[in-house]
Amino acid sequence: MQLDAAMLVAALIPSWSSVLLLASYLVYLAVAGTILPSKIVPGALLSDGSRLHYRCNGLVSLFLLLVLTATGVYMGWISPTAIADKGVELLSATFIFSLFVSFVLHAGGSRSHNQSSSLKPYVTGNFIHDWWFGVQLNPHFMGVDLKFFFVRAGMTAWLFINLSLLAKSYLAGTANLSVFLYQLFCALYIIDYFVHEEFMTSTKVGLHAGLWRSSFHSIHLQYTGVVAFTKQSGVTKCCCNSKLLDFCVFRGANKQKHVFKKNPNAHIWGKRPKVVGGKLLASGYWGITRHCNYLGDLLLALSFSLPCGASSVIPFFYPIYLLILLVWRERRDEARCSQKYKEVWAEYCKLVPWRILPFVY
Ligand code: NDP
Repeated sequence: MQLDAAMLVAALIPSWSSVLLLASYLVYLAVAGTILPSKIVPGALLSDGSRLHYRCNGLVSLFLLLVLTATGVYMGWISPTAIADKGVELLSATFIFSLFVSFVLHAGGSRSHNQSSSLKPYVTGNFIHDWWFGVQLNPHFMGVDLKFFFVRAGMTAWLFINLSLLAKSYLAGTANLSVFLYQLFCALYIIDYFVHEEFMTSTKVGLHAGLWRSSFHSIHLQYTGVVAFTKQSGVTKCCCNSKLLDFCVFRGANKQKHVFKKNPNAHIWGKRPKVVGGKLLASGYWGITRHCNYLGDLLLALSFSLPCGASSVIPFFYPIYLLILLVWRERRDEARCSQKYKEVWAEYCKLVPWRILPFVY
């Protein structure tokens, strides 16, 4: 028991090789994001009338990294299980790095004299609040939009962690159909995110989320990947079926809003959309609940954890965390929308009374 605790503490102290692996990965993403061909997507209009522009080339960056890694593995330069072998150490290195970045950004951002909506410091004086939410809306480092960057880092890492765990499982002879199906659905989810990366630019995650949570998010993705893959049970196939449905809700809802914001007359589910007060979509998923996209995300998170069975609560850490985060987020978004849209929002709430889950909440 004492030995286990000592081993865990030792694993929590990142080795130089795990720090180097993390640093190389982040440098690759920063360079690839800057130099690879990309679609430049304008972000939402900010309160000072300015607009950020995002380089959406996550898919190219992901595939290039896959090709480079596959070549490295084929040539024997890299072990396919390198990430899986360093699981806890890498998690710990990422966590320490995230903490470091959040403190640096808090300190640097608080002293900023820039008055643009993106870089103006929003300081309340409550250190915990300011550190958690971030003091600048869109912090940048050497021309890289950090929020966009860290969400990309988390999503890309998720795929690589899964692949490394797959290799480990395959080499150990424990891979089975459930494992492959789990991998397939995670990969589809991640690739779909990058195919639709520009949707990120019109969500509040992209616009208002603090960097800290983007980094934190990647840790959860990584941890979920590790746990979900190491414990498999027969429920995977059934989960896979439900994943398809959850995925449609999640992606469909976000896509409908994105399309509506670009063209309020665009058809939703083949019909002209019902619009409240000329501003709010009340058709499609947005006519079922006021945050159907959160419901899709929560169901997806649950279906990623279900294959792990019920023997431990640890694999359910991500859906539980997400449930708390999204309910809290929905409450804040509701207050913001009610203030912004006033009677139009009240009318929308009358028309669509459910917040996230129909007939329950
Ligand atoms: P949304 O993309 O849902 O944005 C909410 C905003 O959309 C509102 O503030 C309002 O903004 C606009 N809006 C609300 N209702 C309507 C309507 N009926 N018609 C038109 N516009 C409307 O929020 P998030 O950015 O929080 O979420 C985006 C995605 O990211 C979700 O799928 C969520 O699940 C996921 N997410 C994942 C997290 C994770 O850790 N895995 C964390 C947070 C989110 P406006 O003022 O522009 O009209």
